[in-house]
Amino acid sequence: MDEQAIRELLEQVKDPEIPALSVLDMGIVRSVDLSDNAVTIQITPTYSGCPAMKMISDDIVSVLSDAGVSSPKVEQVLHPAWTTDWMTDKGKQHLKESGIAPPCAKPDGDIVAFPSPPSVACPFCDSKQTERKSEFGSTACKALYFCNSCQQPFDYFKAI
Ligand SMILES: [Zn+2]
Repeated sequence: MDEQAIRELLEQVKDPEIPALSVLDMGIVRSVDLSDNAVTIQITPTYSGCPAMKMISDDIVSVLSDAGVSSPKVEQVLHPAWTTDWMTDKGKQHLKESGIAPPCAKPDGDIVAFPSPPSVACPFCDSKQTERKSEFGSTACKALYFCNSCQQPFDYFKAI
């Protein structure tokens, strides 16, 4: 099995937070290493305290094992921090269509947990006239924001 085949298998592993997107769309997969007859997948969490990462690791191992890869390994790489730049265009587009604002990053690449308005742009109308309503949105990894322009609530994907 080559790297391309492994990546095709990884396409089946969905992000538990956003089930329409695979771990590849989310840009979580850093590298696929096939040296020494062992397969090691490096992943970077979108959210360091997110319980979803454990599920994602387990899913990767089970998908690869089912496909006949013996003892696949998953390693977490925490630096550099994940950014939306690593998402595929399909991933970014889906977030927007789902009404989820992607995480904001400072110039040094650190993700901002709760950027103060007006830095979070509304995924519906791109207005920055938004405010945070709650630290927690539909899941622990998202915060609830409200757009004062189009009067719609939306999730901000915290991803810290
Ligand atoms: Zn809006």
